[in-house]
Amino acid sequence: MRIVVLAGGIGGARFLRGLKVAAPDADITVIGNTGDDIHLFGLKVCPDLDTVMYTLGGGINEEQGWGRTDESFRVKEELAAYGVGPEWFGLGDRDFATHIVRTQMLAAGYPLSAVTEALCERWQPGVRLIPMSDDRVETHVAVELDGERRAIHFQEYWVRLRASVAAEAVVPVGAEQAKPAPGVLEAIAAADVVLFPPSNPVVSVGTILAVPGIREAIAEAGVPVVGLSPIVGDAPVRGMADKVLAAVGVESGAAAVAEHYGSGLLDGWLVDTVDAGVVDRVTEAGIRCRAVPLLMTDEDAAAQMAREALRLAEEVRA
Ligand code: GDP
Ligand code: CA
Repeated sequence: MRIVVLAGGIGGARFLRGLKVAAPDADITVIGNTGDDIHLFGLKVCPDLDTVMYTLGGGINEEQGWGRTDESFRVKEELAAYGVGPEWFGLGDRDFATHIVRTQMLAAGYPLSAVTEALCERWQPGVRLIPMSDDRVETHVAVELDGERRAIHFQEYWVRLRASVAAEAVVPVGAEQAKPAPGVLEAIAAADVVLFPPSNPVVSVGTILAVPGIREAIAEAGVPVVGLSPIVGDAPVRGMADKVLAAVGVESGAAAVAEHYGSGLLDGWLVDTVDAGVVDRVTEAGIRCRAVPLLMTDEDAAAQMAREALRLAEEVRA
């Protein structure tokens, strides 16, 4: 079975770990979000690609959900001693090596997709990880700061401000001109099923779908497309997804997110058991829906979610 997954960071990575257990023989291609990418200290940092790579490769800091295990921050301390920031973005010593290798390869002329493949040689994530695009896409968030309307980088909004001010708009800058990376459209066309993990519907899955051609390829593939709600009981499980949902006019709820994707794209949707009350509403929107436990408390729970998603896909296909 060939499975394509559109993934952000933590939610995507933890789901993928479960999917590998649930479908050990499947050929899994992950299309990763690069809208979160940022240049820091002259280095290219790809937080979502790295979270997937480290999580599946066994190098992730489990509690945090991002960054490396057994991490230290000596380089960052030294940079701070020079007065060189930003201080609000956590980059550990071990993590720095990844960004140095990536930046060096990009400077040598390799596209991000080739660089990602090279980094995965070390991590052996057990999936094919492809960035959504080799072109630069950067998510910016329009906010009002000190009475002035400004567009700031998504990471500044998310990490520095912790989404503490209202997001007035979320714009994937560069997405319109971006081309899907080599292999992305081919993987979708060859897929037996496409899954949307419980990733952020706006700044992760939404950004991937904003690259021209990707949404169309999924809709035209004619295979089941099944998603899992990142919203459980009206609130994101982790993080502040509600803040960016508000910016695109979507209420923070499991049904609203399904309707936001729409029946033109989505065939099936899993909501958590606490949201069983919205199953009818999603069904009425033309999307097959079921309520199952959706908390990835451990790998077994994530694997069970993946089994449910694949089962729903089979029902859609039948
Ligand atoms: P990010 O790039 O690290 O923000 O990660 P993603 O975009 O992949 O995922 C973030 C989303 O995952 C958040 O909106 C969370 O609500 C959701 N999420 C995280 N853990 C869980 C979980 O255990 N269950 C569900 N249903 N959603 C989760
Ligand atoms: Ca992210």
